[in-house]
Amino acid sequence: MMLDKTKKPGTGGIKMLTEIMPGGDVEFGKCEICGKETNLQREYYYYGVECECHGPTHFEVVRHCKNCEPKEPKTTKITVTTDSLRRRDITIEQARNRIIDAFAADPDFRRIYVDNIACVIMDNIPGFKRNKEARDDIADKILKWILA
Ligand SMILES: [Zn+2]
Ligand SMILES: [Zn+2]
Repeated sequence: MMLDKTKKPGTGGIKMLTEIMPGGDVEFGKCEICGKETNLQREYYYYGVECECHGPTHFEVVRHCKNCEPKEPKTTKITVTTDSLRRRDITIEQARNRIIDAFAADPDFRRIYVDNIACVIMDNIPGFKRNKEARDDIADKILKWILA
């Protein structure tokens, strides 16, 4: 069962999807709406935003008693690791160094790039169809020249 709601402005311009799951889970605690201690149902609100909380998609959960209508929180906190924020801010040079490091750490990963360049050579330059060694060699040189 899914309820699609496109949120109003003021939510950062992000189109959010609110999904309401049927309240199957029952737990005991304080209703977040009226404050009474009783059996609670959970209402999940999912937002199409990546978050480090639990799932790939950020959500809020509201625990409420059977007498109360759950209310979607007005605000929410999204968890981003400082590390991933720092990564997002890298320069081209840093990105290049990251690829170079990745190539050094995993020759098979680099190999994929060599093979792809070799394919372009084979398909576009006459004389290389039957010369795998030569085109691999050129592909390797090109990659060395651009990266490492
Ligand atoms: Zn209540
Ligand atoms: Zn989250």
